[in-house]
This record gives sequence, structure tokens and C-alpha cells, in this order.
Amino acid sequence: VWDEATYVKHHKQKIALVLSAMRHFAAELKKDGWTIDYVELDDEHNSGSFSGEVSRAIERHNPGKIDVVRPSEWRVDQIVQEWPEKFGLSVRILTDDRYLCSLADFRDWADGRKQLTMEHFYRTMRKKTNLLVSDQGAPAGGQWNLDKFNREPLSKSDIPSSRDFFPRFKIDKITAEVIELVKKKFSGHFGSIKNFNWPTTQAQAEAAADTFLTKRLKNFGRYQDAMLFEQDQLFHSMLSTSLNLGLLNPLDLCLRAEAAYERGEAPLNSVEGFIRQIIGWREYIRGFYWYFMPTLADKNELNANRRLPNFFWTGKTDMRCMADSIRSTYENAHAHHIQRLMVLGNFALLAGIRPAEVQEWFLAVYADAYEWVEMPNVVGMALFADGGKLATKPYAASGNYINKMSDYCASCSYSVSKKTGDQACPFNYLYWNFMIRNRQRLEKNHRVNRNYWTWERMSAEKKNDYIVSAHSFLKDLEATEQS
Ligand code: FAD
Ligand code: SF4
Repeated sequence: VWDEATYVKHHKQKIALVLSAMRHFAAELKKDGWTIDYVELDDEHNSGSFSGEVSRAIERHNPGKIDVVRPSEWRVDQIVQEWPEKFGLSVRILTDDRYLCSLADFRDWADGRKQLTMEHFYRTMRKKTNLLVSDQGAPAGGQWNLDKFNREPLSKSDIPSSRDFFPRFKIDKITAEVIELVKKKFSGHFGSIKNFNWPTTQAQAEAAADTFLTKRLKNFGRYQDAMLFEQDQLFHSMLSTSLNLGLLNPLDLCLRAEAAYERGEAPLNSVEGFIRQIIGWREYIRGFYWYFMPTLADKNELNANRRLPNFFWTGKTDMRCMADSIRSTYENAHAHHIQRLMVLGNFALLAGIRPAEVQEWFLAVYADAYEWVEMPNVVGMALFADGGKLATKPYAASGNYINKMSDYCASCSYSVSKKTGDQACPFNYLYWNFMIRNRQRLEKNHRVNRNYWTWERMSAEKKNDYIVSAHSFLKDLEATEQS
């Protein structure tokens, strides 16, 4: 329905992906003998809204009741809550089997805890699923979390150039039709449709999973946090869209990764890291969303009030790390986790950009973005706007981190080794400006307060240089935005 296609200006590839996946699914069900009443987006009778379409379907079919899978977003859930009264019919909400932890189980785990630490949740999920857990209840390899082995930088020569490293999916008639529709009706939306290569059926998603598990999983762990200029997928799975759409089953995917480890085809740090992202982070994020909604949406505990700079849409900035992450976002409707967190999110955090605007951007620009997963990642993980419920400390970093994990800085117009002044990397002085702006709150945090000792050891002149450089950069940013 139009409401869903336009409530934010979704990336063109995201709209094409969702429409193509729905149309393929409807066609498959029909082929299997089900009776399907599918209303296309551009059907002249389409009312444009969920409730409008349910109302029209009631007229056509005169049902005794409505069954609906539990919506994954608060906004849609509110719409469905109105249906019993609106339509005078009973509405049965069915469990969504795209997730492994029920909302009730998450609530039981979360209730009464001071801090909702993902690591604790993850261990519960490992024990519940028995993934990489021995019959005696011990983790494979003796450790629950091998993240410390997953921080290696990468060079271009580490990436195989063979064609079978990434599958390319044929654009069939259904996908070609929706791509044309998107070009016509959503031309004003962000992003290019040229590189569209998302799995739109279960068979394609399985093929994507197979290629990942056989070709890239073995290096997934060690290079998980690495970034390389104009190298977009690296060893990531690119499976979030398929998981979020329900084309892949999360437990099945993890079992297949576990089997690859057991056959000796992938090392433990890769397989544990991948399983942690899915049964740990993905499930935790979804539980967190429902646990804290609806108040999560308005959180801004650090009082960040700057407008989102326009270069988030154009990519026109001299910061090479930002420009490349935005380019990938524009061309692929994707950026990998470290680009989202430690480049784009980190910049928004340090510059003090309004969480609501950052959130709308992240929701619009990624093919895998739905509010249940985007919002906790942006508000909690990237911006610390929930006041530390999700993360124990802000993911704030200077240019040093980006330099360590990428090849961006070597050819950037800014110098990562310069700390202040016109040529200095903006992440360097914005970092200290952020720390000082939020000192009252962050100094109490034992994971951060050591950084203030470093600050106190600096000369008054150095401190002043940091703050002046940051203010001047932010002022220029505002001026450019207004002109
Ligand atoms: P891989 O690196 O291969 O990871 C494997 C899988 O683990 C992913 O497919 C995903 O299903 C899951 N996963 C990993 N990290 C997370 C996480 N933090 N939260 C939830 N699932 C996770 N993911 C989305 O699916 N939709 C979003 O809208 C989204 N927004 C994000 C916004 C920010 C600011 C950040 C920091 C992260 C966001 N993520 C989001 C999480 C993560 O960046 C993407 O899932 C990942 O980049 C998708 O690429 P991939 O499939 O190659 O992932
Ligand atoms: Fe990014 Fe700074 Fe490195 Fe340039 S020098 S790429 S702005 S971290």
C-alpha cells in the first residue's frame, strides 16, 4: 500500500525488493494451489492504506474472522489493534516465526535487570538453541564470545576476485516490472536502482546463503570490523534483507554455519561471530525494541539538536570514510555494520545530530531497514540516546579507530594524524568536543572516565585548540547546509 511505500522516502532498491518478494510469494502460493487475493501497489482501486485494503477485502470475501501475523513495527501494530472495533470482527494475532525469542521470553529475561547486557542475553540464547554448546552445557572452544579475534584490518589483495564469491541474481519478469514501477513512481526517492541484486525468493535467498557459507564464512570473523575503499560487501553475509523478509529461517541458517564448523570448513571465531550476530544481536535488538516502545522513538538523552547535514543524502564531503559509506548506501542500499556504526553513526553522535533525523535517514536508506531493527541500533547503539540502556558506553571514536580498521585515511583530504586545525581529521576534534559537551553524564561511567584523565593532562592551549577546531567545523557545516 502507498502508506507503507512512502511513510519515509525509502531507497528505490528497498521498495523494489519488498514488492518483488511479495509478488513472487503470491505467485508461488498460487502455483501451490492456494487462493490468493493480491492487490498490487498500482492497482487503481488500491486505497493506499492497510486498514483501507482490509476493509475492501472484507467487502469482497465477507470473512468470519481475521488472522494476521503480528506486525513487526509498533506503528503497524497500533493500526491492527483498531481492527476488531473498526470491522466488528475478531482478529487473531499469530506468532511471527522469523524470530527465535518470543516477546514474552524477552520480557521475562529483561524484567528486573538494571542493564540489558546483550552478552547475557546471548548466552541464554546459546543454551536455549544448543548452538556451539556441548552436551555438558559448555561453549565450543571453551569461550562464549570470540570477538577479540575478530578485529583484523584487511587489504584489497585479501579479497578473491572470482565471480562465484558473490552470486548475481537474474532479473526475472516480476522484478523487472517492479523496477520499472519504482523508476516511474519513486524517482524522487534516494538511491540508485542500477545495482539491484537482492534475493527476492526463497530459492535465491538459499543460494545466497550457500555462497556465503561455502565461500565467505571462513573469513567473516577475522575481517568483520574491516573497511576498504570501494569494496562494499567484503566477507559479510548480505543476508539481513532475506532474514528480515522471512526468506531465510534464522535457526536453520545458524545450524548450517555450525555444521560448517563441525566439518572443519570454517573456524570457530567466524562461526561463533556469525551465530552471535543472529541469535544474539538480531534477537536482542528486536526484544529491546518491543520492550521500550513507544518511548524509545523519542529518546534524546544527550540533547543532540543539530540538523542532519545534507551530505548524508549527496555524499558530497571531503571526509573519505563518510563519502565512501554514503556512496555504498546510495549504490547498494547497504553499508556494512562498521560503516553504519563507526563511520556514519559515530559522526552523527560526535556532531550531535538529532536522533529523530538520524533515525529517519537510516530507516530510509537501507534495503534491510525496518523500524524494529533500525531504531534500537540507531538510538541505542550508535547515538547513546537511550542514556545507556543498550550500550554500556557510547561507541564514540576518533579518526584513529577508522584509520586502524580501513584504508580510508591514507588518501583522505584530511590528515588523521593532525588533531586540530583546518587539515586535521574532523573525527579527532569532534571526539573531544563530544566528550566535553557530555562530560557531566559520561564522567560517571567507569568505562569512559579514564578518557577525562587524558583530557586533564593536556595543556590549556591544546584543549582550547580542540574546542575551537570543533566549533569552527560545526559552524561551517551549518553555513554550508543553509546555503
Ligand atoms: P552480517 O555482517 O553478515 O551479519 C549477519 C547477520 O547478523 C545480519 O544479516 C543481521 O541479520 C544480523 N545482525 C548483525 N548485527 C546486527 C544488529 N546490530 N542488529 C540486528 N541484526 C544484526 N540491520 C538490519 O537488518 N536493519 C537495519 O535497519 C539496521 N540498521 C542499523 C543501523 C545502525 C546504526 C547499525 C549500527 C546497525 C544496523 N543494522 C541493521 C545491523 C547491521 O549493520 C546489519 O544487519 C548488517 O550490516 C547487514 O549486513 P549483512 O547481512 O551482510 O550482515
Ligand atoms: Fe575519515 Fe578522518 Fe580518515 Fe578522513 S582522515 S577518512 S575523515 S577518519
